Amino acid sequence: MTVLFWDIDGTLITTARAGMFAWNDSVRELTGRDFDLRTGPRTAGLTDYQIAVKTFEFFGITPDPPLIERLVRRYEELLPASLPLRRGYVFPNVREILESLRERPGIRSYLLTGNTRGGARAKLIYYGLMEFFSDGAFAEDAGERASIAVRALELAKQRGGVAEGGVFVIGDTPHDVECASAIDARTIAVATGGYTIEELQAYHPWRVFNELPPVGEFVRLIDEARGGTDMTRVGRTLSA
Ligand SMILES: [Mg+2]
Repeated sequence: MTVLFWDIDGTLITTARAGMFAWNDSVRELTGRDFDLRTGPRTAGLTDYQIAVKTFEFFGITPDPPLIERLVRRYEELLPASLPLRRGYVFPNVREILESLRERPGIRSYLLTGNTRGGARAKLIYYGLMEFFSDGAFAEDAGERASIAVRALELAKQRGGVAEGGVFVIGDTPHDVECASAIDARTIAVATGGYTIEELQAYHPWRVFNELPPVGEFVRLIDEARGGTDMTRVGRTLSA
């Protein structure tokens, strides 16, 4: 199988940070104190569990695992009602690509995300993409993001096997590139999440685009890589 691991925020969709309402409300319920994710600790690229740790540390509270778990669970509960408060959207070409990949034999798409399973589910249901993903790997503790990639690869191996050199990670941050390196995957980086092409390129992704290319071009890219020839590399790294 050729396996594609998809990041969510900044790659498939933007929620326009609607999740922060659910997060802030959850923090207030648990600590009795006001919190604003926009002005709190830096959280870019962190998993939901790591953000929970930062949030408690921000208040000088020891972030023990049961407390972290309570915050994350409450956030998951509040998230569905929080998403309509901001106008997010699915990025260009995403739906077409996922539809096309679903029809193709020998290719599987899974999620690989720093969201919790419940958080990922709420976002993808709201934006109508849940049907494309049977499963994935999610944040389950405050450990390193690379451990999520390792679990994603294990899952793919169990489900249908993984072709040599046939693993791709599609993501929008340096964290995605690094976590792809941890499992020897090729990263397709997109500059739709806040990092520029130049910033992403510094981490040497396999390919980098301003946004995901049209479905034909994307599928060709995957097919060529699966075929073992890599004739497209020169001059195709940058694509406007
Ligand atoms: Mg992302």
